[in-house]
Amino acid sequence: MKFRFCPNHNWSKLFTAARNFVGARRASTSSASAAMADNQILKTKLCIIGSGPAAHTAAVYAARAELKPILFEGWMANDIAPGGQLTTTTDVENFPGFPEGIMGGELMERCRQQSLRFGTEIFTETVSNVDFSARPFRVFAESKTVVADSIIVATGAVAKRLPFTGSGDGPDGYWNRGISACAVCDGAAPIFRNKPLAVIGGGDSAMEEANFLTKYGSEVYIIHRRDSFRASKIMQSKALSNSKIKVIWNSAVVEAYGEGDSKRVLGGLKVKNLVTEEVSDLKVNGLFFAIGHEPATKFLDGQLELDSDGYVVTKPGTTKTSVEGVFAAGDVQDKKYRQAITAAGTGCMAALDAEHFLQGIGLQQDKSD
Ligand code: FAD
Ligand code: NDP
Repeated sequence: MKFRFCPNHNWSKLFTAARNFVGARRASTSSASAAMADNQILKTKLCIIGSGPAAHTAAVYAARAELKPILFEGWMANDIAPGGQLTTTTDVENFPGFPEGIMGGELMERCRQQSLRFGTEIFTETVSNVDFSARPFRVFAESKTVVADSIIVATGAVAKRLPFTGSGDGPDGYWNRGISACAVCDGAAPIFRNKPLAVIGGGDSAMEEANFLTKYGSEVYIIHRRDSFRASKIMQSKALSNSKIKVIWNSAVVEAYGEGDSKRVLGGLKVKNLVTEEVSDLKVNGLFFAIGHEPATKFLDGQLELDSDGYVVTKPGTTKTSVEGVFAAGDVQDKKYRQAITAAGTGCMAALDAEHFLQGIGLQQDKSD
Protein backbone atom coordinates (compact mmCIF):
# COMPACT_ATOMS: atom_id res chain seq x y z
CA MET A 1 0.00 0.00 0.00
CA LYS A 2 1.50 3.26 -1.09
CA PHE A 3 -1.16 5.63 0.15
CA ARG A 4 -1.04 5.49 3.93
CA PHE A 5 -1.41 9.23 3.68
CA CYS A 6 0.44 11.40 6.13
CA PRO A 7 -0.17 15.15 5.70
CA ASN A 8 3.43 15.99 6.60
CA HIS A 9 4.96 13.53 4.22
CA ASN A 10 6.54 14.81 1.05
CA TRP A 11 6.29 11.85 -1.28
CA SER A 12 8.56 13.26 -3.93
CA LYS A 13 11.36 13.34 -1.33
CA LEU A 14 11.33 9.56 -1.26
CA PHE A 15 12.28 9.31 -4.88
CA THR A 16 14.83 12.11 -4.58
CA ALA A 17 16.34 10.33 -1.58
CA ALA A 18 16.53 7.08 -3.56
CA ARG A 19 18.27 8.88 -6.42
CA ASN A 20 20.71 10.60 -4.05
CA PHE A 21 21.44 7.33 -2.29
CA VAL A 22 22.33 5.54 -5.49
CA GLY A 23 24.09 8.67 -6.71
CA ALA A 24 26.46 8.47 -3.74
CA ARG A 25 26.93 4.76 -4.35
CA ARG A 26 27.66 5.36 -8.00
CA ALA A 27 30.12 8.10 -7.18
CA SER A 28 32.11 5.67 -5.07
CA THR A 29 31.94 2.90 -7.70
CA SER A 30 32.85 5.35 -10.44
CA SER A 31 35.93 6.65 -8.68
CA ALA A 32 36.99 3.07 -8.03
CA SER A 33 36.44 2.12 -11.65
CA ALA A 34 38.21 5.26 -12.90
CA ALA A 35 41.37 3.72 -11.54
CA MET A 36 40.73 0.62 -13.62
CA ALA A 37 41.74 0.26 -17.19
CA ASP A 38 39.27 1.57 -19.78
CA ASN A 39 36.82 -1.04 -20.97
CA GLN A 40 37.79 -3.78 -18.57
CA ILE A 41 37.01 -7.33 -19.78
CA LEU A 42 35.67 -9.73 -17.19
CA LYS A 43 34.79 -13.42 -17.51
CA THR A 44 32.02 -15.18 -15.64
CA LYS A 45 29.78 -18.24 -15.79
CA LEU A 46 26.69 -16.09 -15.32
CA CYS A 47 25.92 -12.44 -16.00
CA ILE A 48 22.66 -11.01 -14.65
CA ILE A 49 21.28 -7.82 -16.19
CA GLY A 50 18.84 -5.88 -13.98
CA SER A 51 18.34 -5.04 -10.33
CA GLY A 52 14.73 -5.68 -9.32
CA PRO A 53 13.40 -8.62 -7.30
CA ALA A 54 13.98 -10.99 -10.26
CA ALA A 55 17.65 -10.07 -10.72
CA HIS A 56 18.52 -10.19 -7.02
CA THR A 57 16.68 -13.45 -6.38
CA ALA A 58 18.56 -14.96 -9.33
CA ALA A 59 21.81 -13.56 -7.90
CA VAL A 60 21.22 -15.04 -4.43
CA TYR A 61 20.50 -18.49 -5.86
CA ALA A 62 23.36 -18.37 -8.37
CA ALA A 63 25.89 -17.04 -5.86
CA ARG A 64 24.92 -19.70 -3.32
CA ALA A 65 25.45 -22.26 -6.10
CA GLU A 66 28.98 -20.82 -6.40
CA LEU A 67 28.48 -19.51 -9.93
CA LYS A 68 30.09 -16.18 -8.88
CA PRO A 69 27.60 -14.09 -10.87
CA ILE A 70 28.28 -10.60 -12.16
CA LEU A 71 25.25 -8.32 -11.98
CA PHE A 72 24.72 -5.03 -13.81
CA GLU A 73 22.24 -3.05 -11.73
CA GLY A 74 21.99 -0.15 -14.17
CA TRP A 75 22.40 3.54 -13.61
CA MET A 76 18.98 5.24 -13.84
CA ALA A 77 18.14 2.82 -16.65
CA ASN A 78 14.79 3.96 -18.08
CA ASP A 79 14.89 6.66 -15.42
CA ILE A 80 14.52 4.14 -12.59
CA ALA A 81 17.09 3.83 -9.82
CA PRO A 82 19.03 0.60 -9.28
CA GLY A 83 16.59 -1.62 -7.40
CA GLY A 84 13.89 -1.26 -10.02
CA GLN A 85 10.24 -0.28 -9.87
CA LEU A 86 9.90 -0.75 -6.11
CA THR A 87 12.30 2.15 -5.53
CA THR A 88 9.54 4.39 -6.91
CA THR A 89 7.07 3.45 -4.22
CA THR A 90 6.59 3.62 -0.47
CA ASP A 91 5.07 0.75 1.57
CA VAL A 92 5.02 -2.72 0.07
CA GLU A 93 2.50 -4.76 2.01
CA ASN A 94 2.06 -7.86 -0.11
CA PHE A 95 5.60 -9.24 -0.09
CA PRO A 96 5.66 -12.20 2.34
CA GLY A 97 7.87 -11.91 5.40
CA PHE A 98 7.10 -8.29 6.25
CA PRO A 99 3.86 -8.33 8.26
CA GLU A 100 4.08 -4.59 8.95
CA GLY A 101 4.99 -3.80 5.32
CA ILE A 102 8.33 -2.49 4.14
CA MET A 103 9.39 0.54 2.12
CA GLY A 104 10.07 -0.43 -1.49
CA GLY A 105 13.56 1.12 -1.43
CA GLU A 106 14.47 -0.68 1.78
CA LEU A 107 13.24 -4.03 0.46
CA MET A 108 15.43 -3.63 -2.61
CA GLU A 109 18.46 -2.52 -0.60
CA ARG A 110 18.05 -5.66 1.53
CA CYS A 111 17.84 -7.78 -1.63
CA ARG A 112 21.06 -6.13 -2.84
CA GLN A 113 22.82 -6.84 0.46
CA GLN A 114 21.72 -10.48 0.25
CA SER A 115 23.15 -10.75 -3.28
CA LEU A 116 26.46 -9.25 -2.09
CA ARG A 117 26.59 -11.47 0.99
CA PHE A 118 26.92 -14.60 -1.12
CA GLY A 119 29.51 -13.12 -3.48
CA THR A 120 27.65 -11.48 -6.34
CA GLU A 121 29.78 -8.82 -8.00
CA ILE A 122 27.58 -5.78 -8.69
CA PHE A 123 28.33 -2.97 -11.13
CA THR A 124 26.29 0.24 -11.18
CA GLU A 125 26.27 0.55 -14.96
CA THR A 126 23.56 0.21 -17.58
CA VAL A 127 24.08 -2.45 -20.22
CA SER A 128 24.03 -0.70 -23.59
CA ASN A 129 24.14 -3.72 -25.88
CA VAL A 130 24.79 -7.44 -26.01
CA ASP A 131 26.11 -10.06 -28.39
CA PHE A 132 24.25 -13.35 -28.06
CA SER A 133 25.22 -14.61 -31.51
CA ALA A 134 27.76 -17.10 -30.14
CA ARG A 135 28.90 -18.51 -26.79
CA PRO A 136 30.48 -17.18 -24.69
CA PHE A 137 28.05 -14.26 -24.80
CA ARG A 138 29.16 -10.66 -24.53
CA VAL A 139 27.57 -7.92 -22.45
CA PHE A 140 28.68 -4.33 -22.99
CA ALA A 141 28.43 -1.51 -20.46
CA GLU A 142 30.08 1.89 -20.09
CA SER A 143 33.45 0.74 -18.74
CA LYS A 144 33.19 -3.06 -18.89
CA THR A 145 32.64 -5.94 -21.24
CA VAL A 146 31.55 -9.15 -19.60
CA VAL A 147 32.16 -12.46 -21.35
CA ALA A 148 29.67 -14.97 -19.93
CA ASP A 149 28.68 -18.60 -20.44
CA SER A 150 25.09 -17.82 -19.52
CA ILE A 151 22.91 -14.75 -19.08
CA ILE A 152 19.81 -13.80 -17.12
CA VAL A 153 17.88 -10.83 -18.49
CA ALA A 154 15.85 -9.23 -15.68
CA THR A 155 15.55 -5.62 -16.78
CA GLY A 156 11.88 -5.25 -15.90
CA ALA A 157 9.33 -2.92 -17.42
CA VAL A 158 8.05 0.59 -16.93
CA ALA A 159 4.36 1.38 -16.46
CA LYS A 160 3.25 4.01 -18.96
CA ARG A 161 1.90 7.22 -17.50
CA LEU A 162 0.07 10.20 -18.97
CA PRO A 163 1.46 13.73 -18.69
CA PHE A 164 -1.71 15.79 -18.02
CA THR A 165 -1.72 18.62 -15.45
CA GLY A 166 -1.61 17.21 -11.91
CA SER A 167 -0.48 13.70 -12.91
CA GLY A 168 3.17 14.09 -11.94
CA ASP A 169 5.17 13.39 -8.81
CA GLY A 170 6.17 17.00 -8.14
CA PRO A 171 4.55 19.17 -5.44
CA ASP A 172 1.58 19.98 -7.71
CA GLY A 173 1.03 16.42 -8.85
CA TYR A 174 -1.03 13.58 -7.36
CA TRP A 175 1.23 10.67 -8.32
CA ASN A 176 1.37 8.46 -5.21
CA ARG A 177 -1.22 10.74 -3.62
CA GLY A 178 -4.19 9.19 -5.37
CA ILE A 179 -2.74 8.39 -8.79
CA SER A 180 -1.07 5.02 -9.36
CA ALA A 181 -0.21 2.61 -12.14
CA CYS A 182 -0.89 -0.55 -10.12
CA ALA A 183 -4.37 -1.24 -8.74
CA VAL A 184 -3.34 -4.61 -7.31
CA CYS A 185 -0.51 -2.92 -5.38
CA ASP A 186 -2.40 0.13 -4.17
CA GLY A 187 -6.13 -0.50 -4.46
CA ALA A 188 -6.57 -1.74 -0.89
CA ALA A 189 -5.19 1.47 0.64
CA PRO A 190 -7.54 3.14 3.15
CA ILE A 191 -7.78 6.36 1.13
CA PHE A 192 -9.61 4.43 -1.61
CA ARG A 193 -12.11 2.61 0.63
CA ASN A 194 -15.70 3.38 -0.35
CA LYS A 195 -14.54 6.23 -2.56
CA PRO A 196 -15.21 6.78 -6.27
CA LEU A 197 -12.25 5.62 -8.35
CA ALA A 198 -11.26 5.69 -12.03
CA VAL A 199 -9.15 3.62 -14.39
CA ILE A 200 -7.77 4.84 -17.73
CA GLY A 201 -7.46 2.28 -20.51
CA GLY A 202 -9.43 -0.16 -22.60
CA GLY A 203 -7.29 -3.30 -22.55
CA ASP A 204 -7.36 -6.41 -20.39
CA SER A 205 -5.41 -4.63 -17.63
CA ALA A 206 -8.03 -1.88 -17.41
CA MET A 207 -10.85 -4.44 -17.18
CA GLU A 208 -8.99 -6.49 -14.58
CA GLU A 209 -8.02 -3.47 -12.51
CA ALA A 210 -11.53 -1.97 -12.63
CA ASN A 211 -13.05 -5.26 -11.47
CA PHE A 212 -10.44 -5.57 -8.74
CA LEU A 213 -11.10 -2.01 -7.54
CA THR A 214 -14.84 -2.64 -7.11
CA LYS A 215 -13.89 -4.60 -3.99
CA TYR A 216 -12.77 -1.35 -2.38
CA GLY A 217 -14.28 1.66 -4.17
CA SER A 218 -17.88 2.87 -4.04
CA GLU A 219 -17.91 2.95 -7.86
CA VAL A 220 -15.30 2.62 -10.57
CA TYR A 221 -15.21 4.62 -13.81
CA ILE A 222 -13.32 3.31 -16.81
CA ILE A 223 -12.23 6.26 -18.90
CA HIS A 224 -11.39 5.19 -22.44
CA ARG A 225 -10.29 7.25 -25.42
CA ARG A 226 -12.37 5.32 -27.99
CA ASP A 227 -15.92 3.91 -28.24
CA SER A 228 -14.87 0.26 -27.95
CA PHE A 229 -12.49 -1.75 -25.83
CA ARG A 230 -9.58 -3.75 -27.15
CA ALA A 231 -9.82 -6.09 -24.14
CA SER A 232 -10.82 -9.71 -24.71
CA LYS A 233 -14.57 -10.34 -24.84
CA ILE A 234 -14.58 -12.27 -21.60
CA MET A 235 -12.75 -9.55 -19.68
CA GLN A 236 -15.01 -6.89 -21.20
CA SER A 237 -18.18 -8.69 -20.25
CA LYS A 238 -16.98 -9.21 -16.68
CA ALA A 239 -16.39 -5.47 -16.39
CA LEU A 240 -19.52 -4.37 -18.24
CA SER A 241 -21.76 -6.66 -16.17
CA ASN A 242 -20.36 -5.33 -12.89
CA SER A 243 -22.93 -2.88 -11.50
CA LYS A 244 -20.23 -0.82 -9.78
CA ILE A 245 -18.42 -0.09 -13.07
CA LYS A 246 -19.41 2.78 -15.38
CA VAL A 247 -17.67 3.49 -18.68
CA ILE A 248 -16.88 6.98 -19.91
CA TRP A 249 -16.29 6.46 -23.64
CA ASN A 250 -14.39 8.66 -26.11
CA SER A 251 -12.75 10.58 -23.31
CA ALA A 252 -9.40 11.68 -21.98
CA VAL A 253 -8.35 13.09 -18.64
CA VAL A 254 -6.97 16.60 -19.06
CA GLU A 255 -6.36 17.55 -15.43
CA ALA A 256 -6.20 16.11 -11.92
CA TYR A 257 -6.93 18.36 -8.95
CA GLY A 258 -6.73 18.09 -5.18
CA GLU A 259 -9.36 17.54 -2.55
CA GLY A 260 -10.56 20.28 -0.20
CA ASP A 261 -8.51 23.27 0.86
CA SER A 262 -5.33 21.33 1.57
CA LYS A 263 -5.36 19.68 -1.88
CA ARG A 264 -2.96 17.05 -0.58
CA VAL A 265 -4.73 14.07 -2.12
CA LEU A 266 -6.58 13.61 -5.37
CA GLY A 267 -10.08 15.06 -5.33
CA GLY A 268 -11.19 14.81 -8.94
CA LEU A 269 -10.52 14.99 -12.65
CA LYS A 270 -11.38 17.16 -15.60
CA VAL A 271 -12.43 14.80 -18.36
CA LYS A 272 -12.68 15.85 -21.98
CA ASN A 273 -15.09 14.20 -24.39
CA LEU A 274 -12.97 13.76 -27.51
CA VAL A 275 -16.02 13.90 -29.82
CA THR A 276 -17.85 16.93 -28.42
CA GLU A 277 -14.76 18.52 -26.81
CA GLU A 278 -16.87 19.19 -23.72
CA VAL A 279 -14.92 19.11 -20.46
CA SER A 280 -16.73 17.73 -17.41
CA ASP A 281 -15.89 17.24 -13.77
CA LEU A 282 -15.49 13.77 -12.26
CA LYS A 283 -15.09 13.53 -8.49
CA VAL A 284 -12.78 10.59 -7.78
CA ASN A 285 -10.21 9.93 -5.06
CA GLY A 286 -8.20 7.39 -6.97
CA LEU A 287 -6.97 7.17 -10.55
CA PHE A 288 -5.18 4.15 -11.97
CA PHE A 289 -3.32 4.15 -15.28
CA ALA A 290 -3.82 0.87 -17.15
CA ILE A 291 -2.47 1.96 -20.50
CA GLY A 292 0.23 -0.65 -20.86
CA HIS A 293 3.81 -1.19 -19.82
CA GLU A 294 7.02 -0.84 -21.76
CA PRO A 295 9.41 -3.76 -21.24
CA ALA A 296 13.10 -2.79 -21.03
CA THR A 297 14.27 -4.75 -24.06
CA LYS A 298 15.60 -2.10 -26.48
CA PHE A 299 19.22 -2.85 -25.56
CA LEU A 300 18.72 -6.44 -26.79
CA ASP A 301 18.48 -5.05 -30.33
CA GLY A 302 16.44 -7.97 -31.65
CA GLN A 303 18.80 -10.69 -30.44
CA LEU A 304 16.10 -12.50 -28.46
CA GLU A 305 12.64 -13.35 -29.69
CA LEU A 306 10.20 -10.72 -28.43
CA ASP A 307 6.40 -10.71 -28.66
CA SER A 308 4.47 -7.99 -30.46
CA ASP A 309 4.55 -5.80 -27.32
CA GLY A 310 8.33 -6.14 -26.91
CA TYR A 311 8.36 -8.67 -24.05
CA VAL A 312 10.97 -11.45 -24.09
CA VAL A 313 9.32 -14.72 -25.10
CA THR A 314 10.07 -17.59 -22.72
CA LYS A 315 9.27 -21.25 -23.14
CA PRO A 316 6.15 -21.88 -20.98
CA GLY A 317 6.99 -23.21 -17.53
CA THR A 318 10.67 -22.22 -17.86
CA THR A 319 12.77 -19.06 -18.20
CA LYS A 320 14.43 -20.25 -21.41
CA THR A 321 14.53 -17.72 -24.25
CA SER A 322 15.05 -18.21 -27.98
CA VAL A 323 18.83 -18.38 -27.38
CA GLU A 324 20.14 -21.42 -25.51
CA GLY A 325 21.94 -20.27 -22.36
CA VAL A 326 20.06 -16.95 -22.14
CA PHE A 327 17.22 -16.82 -19.61
CA ALA A 328 14.68 -14.13 -18.75
CA ALA A 329 12.91 -13.40 -15.48
CA GLY A 330 10.52 -10.86 -13.99
CA ASP A 331 8.42 -8.21 -15.68
CA VAL A 332 10.58 -8.20 -18.82
CA GLN A 333 8.91 -11.49 -19.75
CA ASP A 334 5.61 -11.18 -17.85
CA LYS A 335 2.82 -8.89 -18.94
CA LYS A 336 0.17 -10.53 -16.84
CA TYR A 337 1.12 -10.76 -13.15
CA ARG A 338 3.78 -8.03 -12.79
CA GLN A 339 4.30 -8.36 -9.03
CA ALA A 340 7.46 -8.33 -6.94
CA ILE A 341 6.85 -11.86 -5.72
CA THR A 342 6.25 -13.27 -9.20
CA ALA A 343 9.39 -11.49 -10.41
CA ALA A 344 11.34 -13.02 -7.52
CA GLY A 345 9.84 -16.44 -8.29
CA THR A 346 10.93 -16.35 -11.91
CA GLY A 347 14.34 -15.03 -10.81
CA CYS A 348 14.76 -18.20 -8.78
CA MET A 349 13.66 -20.27 -11.78
CA ALA A 350 16.15 -18.50 -14.04
CA ALA A 351 19.07 -19.17 -11.67
CA LEU A 352 18.13 -22.86 -11.46
CA ASP A 353 17.67 -23.03 -15.24
CA ALA A 354 21.09 -21.38 -15.74
CA GLU A 355 22.74 -23.71 -13.23
CA HIS A 356 21.25 -26.71 -15.01
CA PHE A 357 22.37 -25.35 -18.38
CA LEU A 358 25.93 -24.77 -17.11
CA GLN A 359 26.04 -28.28 -15.67
CA GLY A 360 24.90 -29.50 -19.09
CA ILE A 361 27.66 -27.77 -21.02
CA GLY A 362 30.16 -28.83 -18.35
CA LEU A 363 29.13 -32.46 -18.89
CA GLN A 364 29.39 -32.04 -22.66
CA GLN A 365 32.90 -30.64 -22.28
CA ASP A 366 33.86 -33.54 -19.97
CA LYS A 367 32.60 -36.04 -22.56
CA SER A 368 34.53 -34.41 -25.41
CA ASP A 369 37.77 -34.22 -23.36
P1 FAD B 1 12.11 -4.10 -12.13
O1 FAD B 1 11.66 -3.83 -10.75
O2 FAD B 1 11.35 -3.51 -13.25
O3 FAD B 1 13.64 -3.64 -12.18
C1 FAD B 1 14.45 -3.82 -13.27
C2 FAD B 1 15.59 -2.85 -13.12
O4 FAD B 1 16.71 -3.27 -13.87
C3 FAD B 1 15.32 -1.47 -13.71
O5 FAD B 1 14.45 -0.70 -13.02
C4 FAD B 1 16.73 -0.92 -13.80
O6 FAD B 1 17.15 -0.41 -12.55
C5 FAD B 1 17.50 -2.17 -14.20
N1 FAD B 1 17.76 -2.14 -15.65
C6 FAD B 1 16.88 -1.94 -16.67
N2 FAD B 1 17.53 -1.96 -17.85
C7 FAD B 1 18.84 -2.18 -17.57
C8 FAD B 1 20.01 -2.31 -18.37
N3 FAD B 1 19.96 -2.20 -19.71
N4 FAD B 1 21.18 -2.52 -17.74
C9 FAD B 1 21.25 -2.65 -16.40
N5 FAD B 1 20.16 -2.54 -15.60
C10 FAD B 1 18.99 -2.31 -16.17
N6 FAD B 1 4.60 -5.22 -6.78
C11 FAD B 1 4.24 -5.84 -5.64
O7 FAD B 1 4.33 -7.05 -5.55
N7 FAD B 1 3.80 -5.11 -4.56
C12 FAD B 1 3.69 -3.76 -4.57
O8 FAD B 1 3.27 -3.14 -3.61
C13 FAD B 1 4.08 -3.08 -5.78
N8 FAD B 1 4.00 -1.74 -5.87
C14 FAD B 1 4.38 -1.13 -7.01
C15 FAD B 1 4.31 0.26 -7.08
C16 FAD B 1 4.70 0.92 -8.22
C17 FAD B 1 4.62 2.43 -8.26
C18 FAD B 1 5.17 0.18 -9.34
C19 FAD B 1 5.60 0.91 -10.60
C20 FAD B 1 5.22 -1.21 -9.30
C21 FAD B 1 4.83 -1.86 -8.13
N9 FAD B 1 4.86 -3.25 -8.04
C22 FAD B 1 4.52 -3.87 -6.87
C23 FAD B 1 5.29 -4.07 -9.18
C24 FAD B 1 6.76 -4.50 -8.95
O9 FAD B 1 7.52 -3.36 -8.64
C25 FAD B 1 7.31 -5.19 -10.18
O10 FAD B 1 6.47 -6.25 -10.56
C26 FAD B 1 8.70 -5.70 -9.91
O11 FAD B 1 9.55 -4.69 -9.44
C27 FAD B 1 9.30 -6.29 -11.18
O12 FAD B 1 10.58 -6.70 -10.85
P2 FAD B 1 11.68 -7.02 -11.94
O13 FAD B 1 12.76 -7.71 -11.19
O14 FAD B 1 11.11 -7.69 -13.11
O15 FAD B 1 12.27 -5.64 -12.46
P1 NDP C 1 -2.90 -2.91 -23.94
O1 NDP C 1 -1.81 -2.34 -24.76
O2 NDP C 1 -3.61 -4.13 -24.40
O3 NDP C 1 -4.03 -1.79 -23.73
C1 NDP C 1 -3.67 -0.51 -23.39
C2 NDP C 1 -4.93 0.33 -23.37
O4 NDP C 1 -4.56 1.64 -22.98
C3 NDP C 1 -5.62 0.42 -24.74
O5 NDP C 1 -7.01 0.34 -24.60
C4 NDP C 1 -5.20 1.79 -25.24
O6 NDP C 1 -6.20 2.44 -26.00
C5 NDP C 1 -5.02 2.56 -23.95
N1 NDP C 1 -4.01 3.59 -24.12
C6 NDP C 1 -2.73 3.42 -24.55
N2 NDP C 1 -2.10 4.60 -24.58
C7 NDP C 1 -3.01 5.52 -24.18
C8 NDP C 1 -2.97 6.92 -24.03
N3 NDP C 1 -1.87 7.62 -24.31
N4 NDP C 1 -4.08 7.56 -23.60
C9 NDP C 1 -5.20 6.86 -23.31
N5 NDP C 1 -5.31 5.53 -23.44
C10 NDP C 1 -4.21 4.87 -23.87
O7 NDP C 1 -2.25 -3.10 -22.47
P2 NDP C 1 -2.73 -4.01 -21.26
O8 NDP C 1 -1.80 -3.69 -20.16
O9 NDP C 1 -4.18 -3.87 -21.04
O10 NDP C 1 -2.46 -5.49 -21.77
C11 NDP C 1 -1.14 -5.86 -22.20
C12 NDP C 1 -1.15 -7.34 -22.54
O11 NDP C 1 -1.33 -8.12 -21.35
C13 NDP C 1 -2.29 -7.74 -23.48
O12 NDP C 1 -1.79 -8.73 -24.34
C14 NDP C 1 -3.32 -8.31 -22.57
O13 NDP C 1 -4.14 -9.27 -23.22
C15 NDP C 1 -2.46 -8.97 -21.49
N6 NDP C 1 -3.18 -9.03 -20.20
C16 NDP C 1 -3.94 -10.13 -19.94
C17 NDP C 1 -4.65 -10.23 -18.77
C18 NDP C 1 -5.48 -11.43 -18.54
O14 NDP C 1 -5.62 -12.25 -19.41
N7 NDP C 1 -6.03 -11.59 -17.36
C19 NDP C 1 -4.64 -9.17 -17.76
C20 NDP C 1 -3.83 -8.01 -18.15
C21 NDP C 1 -3.14 -7.97 -19.33
P3 NDP C 1 -6.59 1.93 -27.49
O15 NDP C 1 -7.38 0.67 -27.29
O16 NDP C 1 -7.38 3.07 -28.01
O17 NDP C 1 -5.29 1.71 -28.20
